[in-house]
Amino acid sequence: MPELPEVETTRRGIAPLVVGRRVEALRIYDRRLRWSVPAALPRLISGRTIDALERRSKYLLFRLGADTLLVHFGMTGTLRAFSVPPQRRRHDHVDILLDSGLTLRYHDPRRFGAMLWVPPPAESHPLLAGLGPEPFDPGFDAAYLWRETRGRSAAIKLVLMDNHLVAGIGNIYANEALFRAGIRPTTPARRVSKTRLARLVDAARATLDDAIRKGGSTLRDYVDGLGAPGYFQLDCFVYGRPGLPCRLCGTPIRQVRQGGRATCYCPRCQR
Ligand SMILES: [Zn+2]
Repeated sequence: MPELPEVETTRRGIAPLVVGRRVEALRIYDRRLRWSVPAALPRLISGRTIDALERRSKYLLFRLGADTLLVHFGMTGTLRAFSVPPQRRRHDHVDILLDSGLTLRYHDPRRFGAMLWVPPPAESHPLLAGLGPEPFDPGFDAAYLWRETRGRSAAIKLVLMDNHLVAGIGNIYANEALFRAGIRPTTPARRVSKTRLARLVDAARATLDDAIRKGGSTLRDYVDGLGAPGYFQLDCFVYGRPGLPCRLCGTPIRQVRQGGRATCYCPRCQR
């Protein structure tokens, strides 16, 4: 599943190709994504210039004047650029044709993604309005986390994955960040000290940053279909390693379920 680092990598990969370009046409082959692609989208977007390509949480935001094209990759979506688009394959749902001759192609076998037209102010759109700060925002710091978690008895891992508190930290990255911070994922959030929350902020950023750096090596894969686009796996410390020895201390990694998702932790390194 594309997580924040994959979305950020896509943004970095295609931004230089699309910013400043005019949209010549948009072709919809199948509207049935998580929400229907608006039938009016080709008319609304044609002739408009892409002024910026931004990311908020796991959403890609194409800024066209005051309007925004919002793209979400759901479970299996990818957006790739082609100077000469190959024959359409199954699950290629939308093509965006630019004045440079480039085609951006949205591919999504499971169709849980989204492509929506958002008039201003985009920030009040229901998908964006409730989002907390980005993990790299200066506002996401120990003082903020401490303030926001004092009343919360939910486990720190579930709180870390709450998009209202901080945007875009998915299951893999929550697992890994808690390991790096040495915090047991099941600890009630309100019982984690400010010092440890400071470690958690650093750990969350370092984990995401590692993945984004790793994605950097796959950037060329976003153009002309070279290679497979990266859904990169981090070299995980705990995620996906239940029963295997902890990379730091050798203790077998334990797995529990929290909120329906797998949580992996080292019972010795994480207290
Ligand atoms: Zn350990």
